[in-house]
Amino acid sequence: MPELDALQNPPSEQEPVQPALGVWPSVNGSPAQLVLVSTPIGNLGDVTSRAISALRLADIVLCEDSRVTQRLLFALGLKARLESFHDHNEESRTPRLLEAMRRGQKYALVSDAGTPLMSDPGFRLVRAAVAEGFGVTALPGPNAAVTALTLSGLPPHPYLFLGFPPPRGGARRTAFAALRAAEAAGLSASMIWYESPHRVAEMLADLQTVFGDRPAALARELTKHFEQVRRGPLSALIAGVEADPPRGEICVVLGPHDPEAEGQPAFDLDARLRDELTRTRLKEAVAQVAAETGLPRRQVYARALALSGETEA
Ligand code: SAM
Repeated sequence: MPELDALQNPPSEQEPVQPALGVWPSVNGSPAQLVLVSTPIGNLGDVTSRAISALRLADIVLCEDSRVTQRLLFALGLKARLESFHDHNEESRTPRLLEAMRRGQKYALVSDAGTPLMSDPGFRLVRAAVAEGFGVTALPGPNAAVTALTLSGLPPHPYLFLGFPPPRGGARRTAFAALRAAEAAGLSASMIWYESPHRVAEMLADLQTVFGDRPAALARELTKHFEQVRRGPLSALIAGVEADPPRGEICVVLGPHDPEAEGQPAFDLDARLRDELTRTRLKEAVAQVAAETGLPRRQVYARALALSGETEA
């Protein structure tokens, strides 16, 4: 199967076209020692031919849950030697994997679904393998965040991928407030989160509290039979979630801060806190601003602490 480059370049510049099936990826002309293999996020038809050949040719396939990867291999008619590699053993396994790479072992890394490392294990291994000078490459493929972003109807870039928000309300609002503060300092980007269906109602409510009633999208079950993208202001999404709670796998996309469309924010948390901190002590400033804005005290406190550190530096 020709590589996309080969199709795009004029014939005189083309590399000889090699069938992708049966070719182990290389880096700088040498066989890669670690290959990050993206796998489908719901629709088996999205597996790439390069992914299939890497899974077939790897000495070992590192996977999160061997039952999940075994099902994929079975559906593709492949057999592979699997080894478990997940958040809880990534750190302890990495030195041994590097040792095996030194002996020439070829690894493929997959997660349960989508692109490895994206809210999935692998970062520490990639960092260590790169530091040791091993050939690391990635076979691009499905990723829920980018698929949701492209379907959201919201500006695709710049964007921020934020993974899962903190599961607890207080920490979540504090994390959102930090982003809102970055917006007050000039950030304007679409933002993408993964979220569980059980928490999506409270997460959307917190988004509205912190960011206002901004355009957003909720994308669920992407690439599957019940794929659905709900688009609209946060208030409409919240009403929709209440009336018809979404099930399955979910991504939430929030539109960028747009001062023209939104008008200037009713208040600028950082500016208000800075002003108050010039006159009163931290505790009083927090109480005053929390009372004024209705924002959770912990969230205002976290921001005030960060700002007072900033002032002292
Ligand atoms: N590495 C994966 C990727 O590249 O998309 C994401 C792994 S993360 C542990 C799993 C989360 O991704 C799910 O809880 C959900 O928020 C999102 N997700 C995965 N598949 C999805 C799908 N088909 N539709 C919508 N969201 C999905």
